[in-house]
Amino acid sequence: MELRKSIFSIFFFSTIAIFPIENYSQTEKANQFVIVVDPGHGGSDPGAVGINGNKEKDVVLKIAREMIRISKSSPKNEFKIYLTRYKDSLISLSDRTKLTKALKADVFISLHCNHSNDPRARGIEIYVSNRISHQSNESVLLAYQLQKELRKKLGFESRGVKFANFQVLRESVTDYPAILLELGFLSNWEEEKWLNNPENINHMASLILVAIRKSLNLDKKPKT
Ligand SMILES: [Zn+2]
Repeated sequence: MELRKSIFSIFFFSTIAIFPIENYSQTEKANQFVIVVDPGHGGSDPGAVGINGNKEKDVVLKIAREMIRISKSSPKNEFKIYLTRYKDSLISLSDRTKLTKALKADVFISLHCNHSNDPRARGIEIYVSNRISHQSNESVLLAYQLQKELRKKLGFESRGVKFANFQVLRESVTDYPAILLELGFLSNWEEEKWLNNPENINHMASLILVAIRKSLNLDKKPKT
């Protein structure tokens, strides 16, 4: 563990100076799963902008932060959640991957919101890398678990689990299970309004954590 920590420190201080180091310096616990949540976009890149002006970069950061808050207040204390960005800053896709690998993630979730020229388009989409690897099964399992939770508990229409060649997924395939979650359409009046409500942000964040727990089978198998 000590060796791992020193390698980790060298890697961080030499190559990823742009990240706020204080956020990553908390004590690691061997019995916790490391979850890296990647709020998409940030800084000069707002991502999708909703019909009422809500920006994707802000919505996904709120959900990611809420996941940390919920997890920290949980007596189970099973997850150590890190974000690829903690504020409104733009991080390159390759740095998001470098960070996730350095943290030795057990699960990686990239959060995004959708947009369409058709204001009626709605629902969640979940992407898994189209490259087959030894992580594929776990990624697909998590994707279906998320789809099930969000559809059942939030009533979100599901547009399905899809396979794609997104960079943050492609670069993950040898290291950790990874999915990219499109949380709803900011171009849809109803879904944008829904995603702008703090109670719904809380609900969405907690259901994502429930889906991760289920996909890791934590009720039956705590990390050893
Ligand atoms: Zn996006």
